Amino acid sequence: MSDRKGLLTSLMSDLGLGPTVQSLVGGKLCDGAGDAVILEDPYAQIELARYADCGAALAAEACLAAAAAQKDWVSGYSAAKRGDVMQDIARAVLDNAEPLAKVEALVAGKPIRDCRVEVAKVAEMFRYYAGWADKLHGEVIPVPSGHLNYTLREPLGVVFQITPWNAPIFTAGWQIAPAIATGNGVVIKPSELTPLTTVALVRIAEDAGLPKGLVNVLCGLGPTTGQAAIEHDKVRKVIFVGSPETGRRVAVAAAQALKPAVLELGGKSANIVFGDANLKHAALGAQAAIFSGAGQSCVAGSRLLVQQRVYNQLTDMIAVGMDGITLGDPLDEATEVGPISNGRQFAHVTGMIQGAHDEGASVRTRSSTPETGFFVPPTVLSGLGNTATVAQTEIFGPVVTAIPFRDEDEAIAIANDTLFGLAGAVWTSDVGCAHRVSTAVRAGTFWINSYKAIHVSSPFGGSLNSGFGRSSGSDALMEYTSPKSVWLDSGKTPKIAFGYVS
Ligand code: NAD
Repeated sequence: MSDRKGLLTSLMSDLGLGPTVQSLVGGKLCDGAGDAVILEDPYAQIELARYADCGAALAAEACLAAAAAQKDWVSGYSAAKRGDVMQDIARAVLDNAEPLAKVEALVAGKPIRDCRVEVAKVAEMFRYYAGWADKLHGEVIPVPSGHLNYTLREPLGVVFQITPWNAPIFTAGWQIAPAIATGNGVVIKPSELTPLTTVALVRIAEDAGLPKGLVNVLCGLGPTTGQAAIEHDKVRKVIFVGSPETGRRVAVAAAQALKPAVLELGGKSANIVFGDANLKHAALGAQAAIFSGAGQSCVAGSRLLVQQRVYNQLTDMIAVGMDGITLGDPLDEATEVGPISNGRQFAHVTGMIQGAHDEGASVRTRSSTPETGFFVPPTVLSGLGNTATVAQTEIFGPVVTAIPFRDEDEAIAIANDTLFGLAGAVWTSDVGCAHRVSTAVRAGTFWINSYKAIHVSSPFGGSLNSGFGRSSGSDALMEYTSPKSVWLDSGKTPKIAFGYVS
């Protein structure tokens, strides 16, 4: 195994970063002051870097820097000019795509081919929201009093974004782009385990013309750095992407400070296959739904509901397919599935499989896995019902629980028998059934004869334990702005009276 630590240092240098992990505050790279955080290569299982938690003082500095830069972003730039800057950022991201993708692969353990796609999507997000920058406007409302009443869509001020480790640069672009397109300043805290590509992204954006301090990156821990930023006076809204457990803590802290929050949380999505489906497509779709990204996807199709009469046939097809997937070094061009991203998650996933085994599941796994790295082989669990722990708890690994159903009503009932409401899919050749099921299943995103298609132009989000609020598309613009209603009395005689004017 070559010198991966040296490779990381050289990639960071290509991206304009020093050899250590530093927060980016007010345009300056800064060292933290708290407990040590270690970045571990999930494939080679070696320490890649060690840094100090950002801490509350630096978090406060970041909030103040964002507030100062935000004022100029809305008063010193026209909306069209803000869009131009974002187009320049999109181009700069593409110019730096290869080192960004490599750092992501090395630190997060995602296959390089996936990382390249995600970096390209980040550029697309900046382009998409650049287009919106000068197209979001208010309306004129024909109120009965005769006033000229119109609305302005105003930025919130400073928003605080918290992101997880499973898609670091993708999630950063996903939230930063709509926030700045609508005139906000940003403080973002990526997962302490995968902070580098977010710092690099903002550094690249600054070099491309983003005002320094408009977007600040805090490298550090949630309970210290994260909580300090949530509570800071300048922060007007919190956008959290992560687990339901942490989401609850974040929402409580935001509520204490009377701040709104968007929560993009986990899932336990039902992937429903009817007997009349094209089973070859459904089997491939089911594998992509749960094994791509090693199952570390919020929308993973982790519950596979299969109509009884094709249950054995479909699960056999998936089991055969598992052996054809290329597992390996995330930096290897051929790798389709990498390791689990970190030791904590590896322990969780393997513990869940053991628990299913103890509950009586039949466990089918791929025959071989690489010798090094936090690899969990693609796994199909059968023989347990929807009430089993593995059917109700997010595993966030390449593990699918296959559950048989008799008919449409039972499939819908099982799909909705969960505390989550993020995504789902149905595979069938019956158009009517597809429509009925997609309407009846509780989910923010639903696919018919497909899985995992998402785009920055289409809304994304969930309900219940999957969170609330929406990201992507024009819905994200609403999350990052608030309407102001302006009343102009243009009559010759003022309409001022005691009591209500209507
Ligand atoms: P996590 O909840 O452990 O951590 C997410 C972020 O919260 C990290 O940045 C972490 O440092 C921070 N954090 C932790 N404690 C905090 C606290 N007390 N205050 C403030 N911040 C705190 O999640 P994870 O393990 O990094 O990511 C996996 C989870 O993310 C899964 O549940 C997955 O489904 C979810 N996810 C959801 C989406 C979505 O869009 N719905 C997308 C990706 C991942």
